Amino acid sequence: MEKFDVTVIGSGPGGYVAAIRCAQLGMKTAIIERYPSLGGTCLNVGCIPSKALLDSSEHYFNAAHNFTTHGIEVKGLKVNLEQMIARKRDVVKITCDGINFLMKKNKITVFNGHGSFVNKNTVEITKADGSKEQIESAKTIIATGSKPSSLPGIEIDKKRVITSTEALELQEIPKHLVVIGGGVIGLELGSVYARLGAKVSVVEFMDGIIGTMDKGLGKELQRVLKKELGFEFYLKHKVTGVSAKKNEVTVTAENSKGEKVELKSDYCLVAVGRKPYTDNLGLDKAGVKTDNRGKVETDDHLQTNVPGIYAIGDVVKGAMLAHKAEEEGVFVAELMAGQKPHINYNLVPGVVYTWPEVASVGLTEEQLKEQNKKYKTGSFSFKASGRARASMDTDGFIKVLADTDTDEVLGVHMIGPRAADMIAEAVIAMEYRASAEDIARTCHAHPSFTESFKEACLDATGKRSIHM
Ligand code: FAD
Ligand code: NAD
Repeated sequence: MEKFDVTVIGSGPGGYVAAIRCAQLGMKTAIIERYPSLGGTCLNVGCIPSKALLDSSEHYFNAAHNFTTHGIEVKGLKVNLEQMIARKRDVVKITCDGINFLMKKNKITVFNGHGSFVNKNTVEITKADGSKEQIESAKTIIATGSKPSSLPGIEIDKKRVITSTEALELQEIPKHLVVIGGGVIGLELGSVYARLGAKVSVVEFMDGIIGTMDKGLGKELQRVLKKELGFEFYLKHKVTGVSAKKNEVTVTAENSKGEKVELKSDYCLVAVGRKPYTDNLGLDKAGVKTDNRGKVETDDHLQTNVPGIYAIGDVVKGAMLAHKAEEEGVFVAELMAGQKPHINYNLVPGVVYTWPEVASVGLTEEQLKEQNKKYKTGSFSFKASGRARASMDTDGFIKVLADTDTDEVLGVHMIGPRAADMIAEAVIAMEYRASAEDIARTCHAHPSFTESFKEACLDATGKRSIHM
């Protein structure tokens, strides 16, 4: 039986990053992936393909609706969905091939097959042809990720009632797409098809969309999605049934007053969250415990109840985000090598890749109120930004929350052009415990979207914004 210092089960952003860091630190490392292609949910059916389609659909939308204002006339514009999906597949393939290259470069042994614990130190790999092989490992990292959740009594037939995975491979643009769940997946993939011409209706259980983010962001995003893309929202509606007949799906829902709505569409995207993926992993054979939501239980060092077995990413507690999984992969590898790594979970940014983009880091206003913290706010609207006017991206704002007494920035919440990239400045500033004054006194290039962050900080520290 081949022996390794570390075996990683799962090759998503948690697993492959952990494997690379282990190898860099001198450990003999194996990685097991049940699918032929490495990269996990993120590279194959998550972050990368969804952003490829978001980019393509945004180009189309701008060409159809905004180019004329810029003085660009386009005749005969139409969508070639087949080509759009083919380009997305190419992007995925090149990105996944890159992970194969990185495994070779770092001398990591890749096993393609389903991994399952035989005992604490042995994992069995079942390959596609049914053959089995066992390997032994001093330490193991569980990085098996997550898969889409559903609702009780709803059958996902993967044809008309679909998850994000199928939504990334549709053969036609829906005429009407009903999305269950006003979270990240529903709004990102809803945007893709709305931009391409579909009517999109979102049915959401809570009283707002993107519910875990600062409330102001959800309100503004809802307003813009209605105005720009014609989204319909059914908030505070509980879905009571979904049935598919031939090409038609019927979704029934009920609001808090008991009033019923019935929505007929050609596709229904179920996007109500994801659940940890531990199917046939043999956790019981290794003695690893899970919590009441099926997540692998870990301590503060991401070690399970079994010494030497660690778990990271979507399969453990915390935000289900690729960059959180990556940080945890590095953390565990360095911990195993005797280092003292640290993750500041409060500073894991969250991003929604709609347009305008939404991005957030630190505490929300709702959390600050709950914690009875004294805070001050500063904000700046993109309407007052020359750069945003030049690019016709004036929807949205940046909000900065800072400690009333010390001026330390406690949270930054933005909706606007390129917020996904701009949030990095706020993360770095907060990692160094910057005050709003520190950022307000830092020179920002003109004209740039980031000037709006400086202006929001000026507003937070003494209401001295220059341009508003
Ligand atoms: P995963 O990426 O899920 O990888 C786990 C891997 O383990 C899979 O390849 C699986 O096949 C394998 N595996 C499972 N069990 C076994 C086994 N027993 N043996 C062998 N292999 C096994 N996050 C972001 O941060 N930004 C985004 O823009 C973003 N967009 C997303 C868009 C969509 C449509 C979806 C669905 C998700 C998106 N996410 C995004 C979330 C992100 O994909 C996940 O948080 C991330 O992939 C989690 O990484 P992971 O390594 O924990 O698990
Ligand atoms: P989510 O948790 O973001 O949103 C699910 C939504 O469904 C919530 O608003 C919830 O209130 C609603 N919901 C739940 N039950 C419902 C019901 N019965 N009827 C109506 N609404 C209901 O989950 P998601 O959008 O499926 O995304 C899954 C995970 O993938 C998230 O954790 C997210 O972090 C990750 N993801 C991240 C990105 C990104 O970072 N840009 C993109 C896509 C996915």
